[in-house]
Amino acid sequence: MSHYKTSRHWEVLFFYANMFVIMSFLKKIFGDENSRKVRKYQDRLKEVNRYSDEIAKLSDADLLSKTSEFKKRLESGSTLNDILPEAFAVVRETASRTLRERPYDVQVIGGMVIHDGKIAEMRTGEGKTLVATMPTYLNALTGKGVHVITVNDYLARRDAVWMGQVYAFLGLKTAVINQNASYIYDPSHKELDENRDEVGAYKVVYDFLRPCTRKEAYEADITYGTNSEFGFDYLRDNIEYEKNTLRQRAHHFTIIDEIDSILIDEARTPLIISAPSSDSSDLYSVFAGIAEKMKVEEDFTVDEKFKSISLTDAGITKAEQALGVENIYTEKGIKYVHHLESAVRAKALYHKDKEYVVRDNQIVIVDEFTGRLQPSRRWSEGLHQAIEAKEGLKVQQESKTFASITYQNYFRMYEKLAGMTGTAETSSEEFFKVYRLDTVVIPTNKTISRIDEQDLIYRTEQGKIKSIVNKIKEVNATGQPILVGTVSIEKNEELSAYLTRAGIQHNLLNAKNHENEGEIIAQAGKKFAVTIATNMAGRGVDIKLGGVPFNKEKYEEVRALGGLMVIGTERHEARRIDNQLRGRSGRQGDPGRTQFFVSMEDSLMRIFASDTVKKMMERLGLPEDQPIQNRMITRALENAQMKIEGFNFDSRKHLLEFDSVVNVHRTSIYSRRLGILLGDEETIQNEANEIILRGGDKIAEQMKEKENMLGPEEWKNIFRRMLLQSIDTFWVEHLETMNYLRSSVNLRAYGQRDPLIEYKREALILFKNMKEAVYNQVIRMIPNVGQGAFQKEEERLKETVKNAKLVSGKTNPDEVTNPIPAGEKIGRNEKVTIEKDGQKMEIKFKKAESYLADGWKVVEK
Ligand code: ADP
Ligand code: MG
Repeated sequence: MSHYKTSRHWEVLFFYANMFVIMSFLKKIFGDENSRKVRKYQDRLKEVNRYSDEIAKLSDADLLSKTSEFKKRLESGSTLNDILPEAFAVVRETASRTLRERPYDVQVIGGMVIHDGKIAEMRTGEGKTLVATMPTYLNALTGKGVHVITVNDYLARRDAVWMGQVYAFLGLKTAVINQNASYIYDPSHKELDENRDEVGAYKVVYDFLRPCTRKEAYEADITYGTNSEFGFDYLRDNIEYEKNTLRQRAHHFTIIDEIDSILIDEARTPLIISAPSSDSSDLYSVFAGIAEKMKVEEDFTVDEKFKSISLTDAGITKAEQALGVENIYTEKGIKYVHHLESAVRAKALYHKDKEYVVRDNQIVIVDEFTGRLQPSRRWSEGLHQAIEAKEGLKVQQESKTFASITYQNYFRMYEKLAGMTGTAETSSEEFFKVYRLDTVVIPTNKTISRIDEQDLIYRTEQGKIKSIVNKIKEVNATGQPILVGTVSIEKNEELSAYLTRAGIQHNLLNAKNHENEGEIIAQAGKKFAVTIATNMAGRGVDIKLGGVPFNKEKYEEVRALGGLMVIGTERHEARRIDNQLRGRSGRQGDPGRTQFFVSMEDSLMRIFASDTVKKMMERLGLPEDQPIQNRMITRALENAQMKIEGFNFDSRKHLLEFDSVVNVHRTSIYSRRLGILLGDEETIQNEANEIILRGGDKIAEQMKEKENMLGPEEWKNIFRRMLLQSIDTFWVEHLETMNYLRSSVNLRAYGQRDPLIEYKREALILFKNMKEAVYNQVIRMIPNVGQGAFQKEEERLKETVKNAKLVSGKTNPDEVTNPIPAGEKIGRNEKVTIEKDGQKMEIKFKKAESYLADGWKVVEK
């Protein structure tokens, strides 16, 4: 934690001087390397362009027949790279005939980068949706399916309807998977085409979407959908009991749009399918009542940096009195303390309309990065329930995990992975280290002429908001459209109230309804428009000057006014998110301006700015609405952002290192399970052999007997069911054990052992034991099975699976902190800080032991 502590003035200066030298040095190298990469693609671009004239002469029918020609060439040994130039030229021509948009050269380059399994960084408005059609078409020619990932369901539909015309023209099938529906793109509505071309960038014409089964959607050549739907379908397939309900086929090639948002921001939360467990109680509401009466500083303290709380002695006494116990630790134990702390945490750190909203009597998580609602996600380990209790809602039962996977491991299953986004560069290291994804920054089609102003820094939040409102008023009077980005729904609504008071008409976007918001954001470039949006509300929808449908006169008018003005009301934790907001302005060479307003009371400043900076602001003695522009402060901010980015990267890396261990087990169990589910002869025979190996002649005889008695068909069914159910039972337990193991190995850091190595070593044993347990169970059951055995249980399981919940727990903040280094000894009377799930407390080490056994770990002494 010491890295946050105040540094002395000279240290700060020295640090910045160093950083500056290092950064510019890196930039030089990176810049050069990137242009070298781009130059290589420019050579290949020439090959694509060489086909242009020839392809342009083809009739529609000839263009279509190219698809079967390419497929034949692939069959007779050509590679995708061989046919790339011609195939890209074909898509380009098709796009200009159907969409009336001919991909620019830089878009073709972007397409090649994606085909090569890399990330194409292309600014907002460069037309990435269209870029994806080229590599998608090319790779779909293999017939193995291409998955295109979008950030929300609405964009999946929009892109399928919009780009579907290119694929359909070339004879390929496009599908969409949404949360509760699947569609096939149906091109037979020619009369609606006009409308679609005009407004395709935000409007979904539903007549083009025909509902279909999940399986059909995956059998299409191209499937659009969100990361979570693809991930959950994978998990769902692996808890199925019938082969005809399986959904997915191969994991061949996937293109992830807004890849940073998906593989970085969302990757901190694994996907989990779970079902309620029976042991729940009304403890949550009891503790919510106790927490309600607690006062900050008096009964508990808050550490915002680590999103944690710790109870004071007074607070504990208060709780003990309320519960009528002498000593909560000795009389009630871990469970009660955990409840108590969750309740206080829910009260102190989780605020309505900030971290979550209440909708239809449910707590819905608001993603801290994107401001988007995350229905169907829940915080883990009792926090969600504590918040439900706090809000007086019905507390949902705790649940058992059936299946889970991280996005990292889901996406690493694909033979080829690629992506595109406007902001990858600041995270290129992570993309490379975790996914082996190289980032190529593609030059813009037209030179950027947007002006990014230096941050305006205010002493107080009030002063900042006043100035923002004044600025909006002033700019709005000229007619120049304004987009204001905020970090949370709460801030969003606060600002909206100020604007209303100031008599400024505006639109408010909270990432609550993507489709409606898509329409609003598409109009944010109209003259006099003022749009307030959480950071990524309306993400993926382009803002055209003058609004949509495009109108030359209106466009020119707004252009003359200076284009879109973007106002940032706070710096975000990650630079990427700020850049996303900036990127909304100045697309395709348009003029534009961006300005961030910052105050010393913003959380980023409050928590991370050094005292030197704070003192400096105070010494200047400025009035609260008088800004300063100061490079040092801006740099301090960026430095804080980089520090948090680093933290978060470490935390994701850590999560992944541990998950990779379970991943090996998962892959092995799932492939075994699939073989059994499909009932393929060899797998079943193998399973039987393994059982005979363990049970000897006796079991072999029993199996023969059963087969004679029940008939080979029924025996096989029973045998399969028996295996599947045993595997599933033990797998669910294994997941739980592994979770437990994970918390417990962290404690062993003292024993001079690396927790990860310990974890791996024990995991191997546990997994082996688990497999043995499955065989042993089957061996024990065989003598007793008869006609129809396990069928009822299978029905019950199917029912449970059908009602299972798709959830996702947030990564534990404790992964961000460093455990005590290996080998350090702690005295029994020394005070230590221990932590679990972001809750911290300071106690004597000897008292900590029972906590450590429950998964707490020492983070500081
Ligand atoms: P991005 O995802 O890169 O921000 P979009 O795919 O949303 O950009 O496209 C932005 C806008 O640019 C859309 O309205 C689209 O119709 C338009 N566009 C994309 N490519 C071209 C092109 N080659 N010619 C003309 N317009 C294009
Ligand atoms: Mg886009």
